[in-house]
Amino acid sequence: SRKHNGKNGTKLFDPLMASVAQERLKIERFIETGLREDWFDVHLQPIVDLECGLIVGFEALMRLNHPEHGLLPPADIIRVAEETGTIKRIGERVFDKAVAHLARLSSLPGLENSYLAVNVSPLQFSAELPASTFATLMKWGITPSRIVFEITEAVLMHHSPEVRQVLEALSAAGLKIALDDFGTGYSSLSYLLHFPVNTIKIDQSFTRSLTDEDEAVRKRVRMLVTGINTVANELNCRIVAEGVETEEQLQALVSMGVGHAQGYYLGRPQAIEIIESDLGRALPRNASC
Ligand code: C2E
Ligand code: MG
Ligand code: MG
Ligand code: MG
Repeated sequence: SRKHNGKNGTKLFDPLMASVAQERLKIERFIETGLREDWFDVHLQPIVDLECGLIVGFEALMRLNHPEHGLLPPADIIRVAEETGTIKRIGERVFDKAVAHLARLSSLPGLENSYLAVNVSPLQFSAELPASTFATLMKWGITPSRIVFEITEAVLMHHSPEVRQVLEALSAAGLKIALDDFGTGYSSLSYLLHFPVNTIKIDQSFTRSLTDEDEAVRKRVRMLVTGINTVANELNCRIVAEGVETEEQLQALVSMGVGHAQGYYLGRPQAIEIIESDLGRALPRNASC
């Protein structure tokens, strides 16, 4: 390839490429050290039932807590980890912590049956995933039906028999599968037909458009969300709207009968200690459910 041919006239040094490579190397080192030194943690974001205003679950969001640089957001880490293959080890570590958190929250009133949604990268979908998942759940005494694996269409795109077997093994045990960022990828609807998906997460771009300044946009997106909601109900799928940031968006979702939602307006992703102390203060809007 060209980069081995530096002497023969191609670029000897590309400062942009060099800094990208350095950045990547830095992240690779953070990951390795983080796994060794236990820097990985999980923040939890509440998921709220819009009918009664109660917390019904939490999404686990991975954080790398670097002693000098502080909390690093997951996007860059996951990208590098997927390239280097460390995503599996990270995934197992994060899942163990997240399930431990759920076990701890389960002792709080109202959260005995709360669920935990965990993002799972396509590269984690190998034959060992069900066994390692069930082992972790046994360890913490959590039943599989309280777990949701959030996957993106990238997992389903290749239609490999292995992915289907893994999904079926997880579903057979009662674990739920959510399509994350629904509506932003390709041919999502056919996946609902061919895979055991039982939760749809409406991408935050739709939630944001619910309060777009352009009335025509607002009208169209409301029709779309209403339509997705109808389809989800017919298919017995749970529906979760992501990225609720305002009261107005919340009210729009409530008026359309959307079941569950999450977002900064309802609760930011937080460390478990903060979740626990905030829950003491939270009051249900309506005690009827
Ligand atoms: P996601 O699964 O779609 O998660 C939602 C993202 O939106 C999170 O970003 C969350 O902090 C953010 N968010 C929540 N509410 C709001 C809101 O009201 N407004 C806005 N603007 N953002 C909101 P985060 O934590 O940076 O995670 C980014 C992505 O990284 C996730 O998107 C998910 O795809 C991935 N990810 C996070 N944790 C893990 C993990 O443990 N494993 C894997 N494989 N991927 C993960
Ligand atoms: Mg997610
Ligand atoms: Mg999402
Ligand atoms: Mg997203």
